[in-house]
Amino acid sequence: MASIRSVAVFCGSAFGKNPAYAEAAAALGRGLARAGIRVIYGGGHNGLMGVVADAALDAGGEVIGVIPHFLIGTENGHDRLTRLEVTEDMHSRKRRMFDLSEGFVALPGGIGTLDETIEMISWRQLGRHDRPILLCDVAGSIAPLAAALAAMAAQGFIRPTETPLYEYLDGPAAVLARLTGA
Ligand code: AMP
Repeated sequence: MASIRSVAVFCGSAFGKNPAYAEAAAALGRGLARAGIRVIYGGGHNGLMGVVADAALDAGGEVIGVIPHFLIGTENGHDRLTRLEVTEDMHSRKRRMFDLSEGFVALPGGIGTLDETIEMISWRQLGRHDRPILLCDVAGSIAPLAAALAAMAAQGFIRPTETPLYEYLDGPAAVLARLTGA
């Protein structure tokens, strides 16, 4: 894998119930900044999204937020970012995050996180890109999604591919090692 200079991080706009989620989000943000990898994310200041952005910025990293204008209030648009890009709608947000990123990392989250992650897997399955998609497990968070994907594969709805479409990694340290080749 060529060295990655920017990754999109998909994660919850809530904190979730286990404090391990925010700890992992902070470790990932900090580690990306230290590795000189730019963080692309949804631009808000809520929940794990805010934690990733703050940790990366505090460690001297670059963080670009991409937020649709109708969500600036609700998702508490971050005011300290390297750059905050405002888009027309959700589709252009997702497209712009894709264009800015050389890889994708999913931390625990809700429907938005799931939507963004699955879309990147779907685009890869359709041959629209071959960028790494790293699903970061935190305290067992990935098990339900892994079970759903495994069931679809077992039932013949997901075809086996030569190179895996996505990778499961255990915690932010493993994600950082994968991205930096350490
Ligand atoms: P959640 O995981 O639901 O807390 O959402 C995390 C982020 O994903 C938030 O910034 C949501 O605005 C965003 N999101 C939700 N639905 C979508 C979507 N269809 N496309 C792109 N981003 C989304």
